Amino acid sequence: MAILEFNVANEGEMLQLGERLAKELAPPCILYLQGNLGAGKTTLVRGILTALGHTSNVKSPTYTLVENYRLGDLACYHFDLYRLGDPEELETIGFRDYLQPNALCFIEWPEKGRGWLPEPDLFIRLETTAPDGRKVVCSAKKPAGGRILQKLKS
Ligand code: ADP
Ligand code: MG
Repeated sequence: MAILEFNVANEGEMLQLGERLAKELAPPCILYLQGNLGAGKTTLVRGILTALGHTSNVKSPTYTLVENYRLGDLACYHFDLYRLGDPEELETIGFRDYLQPNALCFIEWPEKGRGWLPEPDLFIRLETTAPDGRKVVCSAKKPAGGRILQKLKS
């Protein structure tokens, strides 16, 4: 399936990429964000949420596992599974309840939930290329993800 790469020079450009992505996201939608600590996963989600109308700060859900945002009719869930001990814990937090028809789910560290998470529409991998440079590789994992990439290209 389709792959699209972006070279992101600095934090501001990462926020702009989030804004571009936000315009193409339609619920229900699941995005995986994979990359080392500091790769820019939360920054990208911040760009998306801000573009969708969120006005205050975006907290990293490292300790809470998930932060919720209600933006108009959209329910946005920002997960960070870094501290998930066992993927089975996803059952305890009621992960299934988050997969509503009006939901956008952003999942950092999806590898920690392997076997328990649904497949994403888009798989986004972030790599550090320079102190401020990042490569962002977006892979479509479902037709809906492919449509998002098509729109981002044009
Ligand atoms: P993660 O969620 O992947 O751990 P964060 O988004 O929380 O990463 O942090 C990324 C850090 O890297 C921030 O301190 C940010 O200012 C910095 N940074 C430097 N260059 C970039 C870039 N091109 N894109 C995103 N963040 C960048
Ligand atoms: Mg983060």
